[in-house]
Formats: sequence, structure tokens, C-alpha cells
Amino acid sequence: MGSMHLGLEEESDGFDKLADFYVERVRGGVGLIVTGGISPNRRGVLGPNGARMQSMRHAKKHQAVTKAVHQEGGRILMQILHGGRYSYHPFNVAPSALKAPINRFKPRALSERGVARTIDDFVNAANLAQKAGYDGVEIMGSEGYLINQFLVASTNTRKDKYGGSFENRMRFPVEIIRRIRELLGNDFVIMYRLSMMDLVADGSSWDEVVELAQAIEKAGANIINTGIGWHEARVPTIATLVPRGGFTFVTKRLMGSVSIPLVTTNRLNMPGLCEEVLEEGCADLISMARPFLADPELVLKAKSNRTDEINTCIGCNQACLDQIFKQQVASCLVNPRAAHESNWPMHARAERPQKIAVVGAGPAGLSAATELARTGHQVTLYEKGIQIGGQFNMAKQIPGKEEFHETLRYFNKQLELLGVNVQLNVEVGAGELLGYDEVVLATGVRPRAWNVPGQDKDSRVISYIDVLMGHVKLGDTIAIIGAGGIGFDVAEYLLHDARRNFYDTWGIDTKFKQRGGLRASENIISTRTVHMLQRSTKKMGSGLGKTTGWIHRMGLRKAGVLMHTGVSYQSLTSEGLCYNQDGMERILAADNYVICVGQESFHPLAEDLEMMGKTAHLIGGARNASRLDAQRAIKEGLEMAYSLL
Ligand code: FAD
Ligand code: NAP
Ligand code: SF4
Repeated sequence: MGSMHLGLEEESDGFDKLADFYVERVRGGVGLIVTGGISPNRRGVLGPNGARMQSMRHAKKHQAVTKAVHQEGGRILMQILHGGRYSYHPFNVAPSALKAPINRFKPRALSERGVARTIDDFVNAANLAQKAGYDGVEIMGSEGYLINQFLVASTNTRKDKYGGSFENRMRFPVEIIRRIRELLGNDFVIMYRLSMMDLVADGSSWDEVVELAQAIEKAGANIINTGIGWHEARVPTIATLVPRGGFTFVTKRLMGSVSIPLVTTNRLNMPGLCEEVLEEGCADLISMARPFLADPELVLKAKSNRTDEINTCIGCNQACLDQIFKQQVASCLVNPRAAHESNWPMHARAERPQKIAVVGAGPAGLSAATELARTGHQVTLYEKGIQIGGQFNMAKQIPGKEEFHETLRYFNKQLELLGVNVQLNVEVGAGELLGYDEVVLATGVRPRAWNVPGQDKDSRVISYIDVLMGHVKLGDTIAIIGAGGIGFDVAEYLLHDARRNFYDTWGIDTKFKQRGGLRASENIISTRTVHMLQRSTKKMGSGLGKTTGWIHRMGLRKAGVLMHTGVSYQSLTSEGLCYNQDGMERILAADNYVICVGQESFHPLAEDLEMMGKTAHLIGGARNASRLDAQRAIKEGLEMAYSLL
């Protein structure tokens, strides 16, 4: 299981929670765990309260984790990560005083003594990790952190023995590995995470990657793990639009250059795919991280030929990385129990099983129905559509969101296994619900109306639902009204026929002719002209996910989508949409105006039931449409089920 910082590392009782999290994964079949990054000193922490391993006091806290993992027969390495110029505080340090484009704090350049002390701190952290009971360490040498900053000439302009030639620039990581091996002997695993493709201009060349890998092996590392892309790179590396296994070719290129095992990573989320990657000789080992947030039992299920039961990571980043960037504990959109195991124990059972109706089979209803059945209730799930999924049936149509199919496959299988009585194509009325002990309303939302004079009888005006469900034939010039999550997705959908290739669009040099594996990117060619409009003057898409919003914005710009902010809609006439922008009257003539102006709660049954003396539980969009997303919908289904234990 690859390294994931969960945010528990900094909580007062976080190590007990971490132990619960890791133990569930060991029981689920994970072979080797790598912890989230722990800094070797105060300057290397990523945020002001970041976790460190600098004293026995720190080491003792980790013992709760190592003991619990070993008791279950697991193995665990502690990752040592120094943020360098990515550390988000005013005391950060780096090889040279050059500010990172993604950090407002400029680092101080380490003196030569400072470099030597930092190497000592890495060695000390590894020594303490051994005392804390870890089986070894992973040295974080990728994603653009301190070690990368030493390796690359554009971030290392030093004139001493740690700068200049590549031999000097790689002295820092090589010394760290050599000294740890020397101190801790051969019975301690050292894994090195090597940035094999930096994806930044002037990053490492392929020859340097090979030279470093060989030097790291010689210095005493047992395993080399793959890192792809610095955090400041403007190339997606793990988001859902990255093809599955899209970077395994990089690890494959290094196979044979060293004799220690190589690990490959990035967008590997299902066991069949991992088998193919191994069979193709891309690597010796596979590392998955987020897929173990989504399903702690992934390995067990794979081993027992139950892959159709796996809750697949959809690569959305919404509940894991985005939450970490908001200084919150990570979790998972499709599995809200992740990193919160003790809140919702896996084997909890209801004291008094009841007969329960769940109305609506969108994410909220699916989560509620399966969790209620898992905890022992007898559940009937009503859905007025012909299939389960609610809005996920639209989301899965969006290019780059195909993984949503997996979530629906997972829920379909769980409904079957748990014996939920699924009634499709049934728009249930309040009277039919009176016989149940409890009623859960998960009836979702309906689109908000767009009230602009002239729009009501105009056939050019259509809802996002008609577009995404393929109910309408569209013209060549489209104006999207509203630029929230759905407006962006509709724009992607309208460009779905466009000519594009992931590697060309994002300028990834698969032949590695250029430093950093980066080359000029190509624009997406579309025959459609797409406009997006919003009233707010903020940057378009500012409400999208922290770690993925930039990808959506850049992707649409590359496709030539025209973005209009600060718009005031006036009317719709035969000439087009009349609007005001920057004090000027303008007209936008389009073949279609697709309305994506948000959503409102939809729960007509609640009042009917109330009048009949029955109070229902409202979850997901039915409870509140404001800031609704699938993460909240699924979590509310789980919470509701556990409230009825
Ligand atoms: P819904 O999904 O709306 O489900 C409600 C269900 O109830 C429907 O199936 C409906 O048919 C049924 N129903 C209603 N009335 C009755 C009745 N009387 N009897 C029986 N059945 C009834 N969210 C994210 O977090 N990440 C994303 O990337 C994302 N992308 C999206 C892309 C698109 C194009 C869309 C449209 C949405 C996207 N969302 C995304 C939003 C997410 O899908 C919603 O937040 C989520 O579906 C809300 O879940 P829900 O169960 O509350 O409601
Ligand atoms: P949304 O994100 O709230 O966006 C609504 C858009 O409509 C905004 O751009 C808003 O901008 C505009 N708007 C609001 N009221 C309007 C009005 N009366 N007239 C004209 N314009 C108006 O809602 P959504 O796009 O429908 O998405 C629904 C939910 O699904 C969201 O909560 C979202 O998080 C979730 N979702 C998430 C993703 C994802 O990738 N994470 C993808 C799709 C959906 P102005 O007010 O500035 O015009
Ligand atoms: Fe995967 Fe999304 Fe869950 Fe993160 S939140 S682990 S990306 S499914």
C-alpha cells in the first residue's frame, strides 16, 4: 500500500486511529504498508504542525501502529519526507533560495553544514523508526520535495559539493541511503521513491534517472519505488482522466538497469490491470494507495475471485487529497469509513432488525440501502428510473469519468449479495410506505429554473439532463449557462468527439527525449464552438476540487472553450442571448443554450408522509441541495444506517 498522509498523524489520538486504519488493510490482505510522509526535522514539515520523527518521544507514539500491524502479521515502512521549498511555512529551507511556484514562502538556502545536518536528521529518523518497530523506511525522493530539489540544476544552483555536476547533485540522497544502511545493518528495508519522470521543464534527463537508480542501489537500497511528476507540474498524474496504468511504461523503461526490485504506481486500481502490468514486465511489484481507501479488502477479494465485489477508487481526489489540502482528515468518496473506522465499525449489527423502505437509488439511497442491509435490516429500495444510480448515470457519460460505472457495478453487486429487495421503475407514493417501520427519502434534486425573459418557449433552451441523457440533437455553437461542476462536465461532454490523446494533450514525452519527460502540448481539436457563462467575476471553476479544478480549466482552454465571467443575463431573443458584461451590452448567438444553473431539493413525499403521521429520514439531495456532491450523499446514507443500530 503506497504512502498516504491521512491527517491523523497530527491528531492527538491519531495514532490509535491510524492503527485501526492499517489493521483493517492488513486483514484485507495488504502485503506491505508505507506510512504517510514524516519529516526528519522541524524545517521539513509540510505544514506548521506536521508530524516529525526526531526524538524517542515521537517514536513511542508510532509504536501503537507498528505493534498493531505486526500483531496481524503485516509489515510496515515509515516514509521519511522533507518538504524543502514545498514546506508551507516561513522557516522552510532548500538547496537554493528559489521560491516554488506553488508556495508563497521563499526558502532559505541550506549552508553546507545545514546540508550535513539534514542528512544526519534523515539517518536519525530512520534509526528512530527502527526503534519504533518499523520494518524499514521509504525515503521520499520524488514529487518535487527536498531530494528532487537537490537533483535538478534549476532548483539547485549551489557551488559546493552538493551542486554543479550530477554526481554532486545526487550526493545528498546517496549519502542518506549509504549512512542509513551503514547504521542500521542489512535487516532493515530501505525503499527509495525515485522521481522517474519529473514532468517539469529542466527536470532530470533519462540518463540521470538511470545513474541515480544505480547509485541508490549501490548505496544500499533494497527496493526502488516509482514517482511521477512534481507537485508543481501542470500535467495530471493520478486524476481520473489519466488512463489506467498510464505511467507504468516509465517504470518498465528502468527494468534491467538495476538488480533490486522496481515498484510501479499511478492509476492502478483493479487487480486484473495489475496482473497485466506485471505480465508485461513493467515492474516487479505493484503499489496502490487510494484503492485501499476505497476498499480495505481489495486483495482478499482479488484472491478469492470476487473482483466484482471491489469498491473501486474512481480517481476523483474529492475526499482524499482535496480534504488534505483543506487541512482535514482524509477519507474516500466511495467509502466514507476510510480513516474513520472506529466511527462506523465494520461488523456492527442492529439490535432490533426492522423493515425499512429507501426511496431513490442515487448514491445516497444506494449507500443507505446497502448499509442498512449490512447491519441486519430488511430493506426495500424503490427507484422510479429503470436503473440504479440517479445522477451517476449522467456523470458516467462524461469523458474522464468512466470510473463511475465501477461504483454502480459495486452497488449492484452489494444489493444482490445483501438481499435488498430492489424495485425499479416504481414511483412510489406515500400510502405504499406506511407499512414500513422506517422510511428513508433519497429522492435527490431537480434542476433549478433559469428565469430570463424569452427563455420559456424557446426550443434552443435545454436542460443538462436532456443533453447528457442524449435526448436532443445539438448544433455546432453551444452556450452553457452556469459554470459549476455540471457546467464543466457538460462542456467536456460536448467535446467528447474531439480529437485528443492524453499524452499529446498534456505534453508527455513518452520517448523521454527531453529533460523531465516534457514536450510541447497539443490543443484539442473540436468542430464545436462552446461558450461558458457565469454571473460571478471569480475565476471560472473556482468551486471545483483543489487538486483537479486546474485540470478541468486547462483541459477546456486547450479545447478552445470560451469562458465569460461577470455576466448579467438580460433576455433571450431570436438574435441570441442578450447580456451585460463590463458595462457593455452584448449578444451571444448560439444554436443551443444548455441550462446548468444548479439544483434544488426534491422531496414531495416528505410532506405527504408527514400528513399521514409518519416522519421520514431525508438524506442526500432530498435533505439539502446546497453544496451537494456524491461524497456527502454517500456519507449521509452511511450515517443514517448507523443511526438505526
Ligand atoms: P440523485 O442522484 O439525484 O438520486 C435520486 C434518485 O431518486 C434518482 O434515481 C430518482 O430517479 C429517484 N427518485 C426520485 N423520486 C422518486 C420516487 N418518488 N420514487 C422512486 N424513486 C425516486 N458529484 C461528485 O461528488 N463528484 C462528481 O464528479 C460528480 N459529477 C457529476 C456529474 C454530473 C453530470 C452530474 C449530473 C452530477 C455529478 N455529481 C458529482 C453530483 C452527484 O451525482 C450528486 O450529488 C448525487 O448523485 C446526489 O445523490 P442523491 O442520491 O442525493 O440524488
Ligand atoms: P453549482 O456547482 O452550484 O453551479 C451552479 C452554477 O449556476 C454556478 O456557476 C452559478 O454561477 C450558476 N447559477 C446559480 N444560480 C443561478 C441563477 N439563478 N441563474 C443563473 N445562473 C445561476 O451546481 P451544479 O453545477 O448544478 O452542480 C451540482 C452539484 O454537483 C454541485 O454541488 C457540485 O459540487 C456537484 N458536482 C461536482 C462535480 C465534481 O467534479 N466534483 C461535477 C459535477 C457536479 P453564477 O451564480 O456565478 O452564475
Ligand atoms: Fe479514490 Fe476518490 Fe476515494 Fe480518493 S476519494 S480514494 S480518489 S474514490
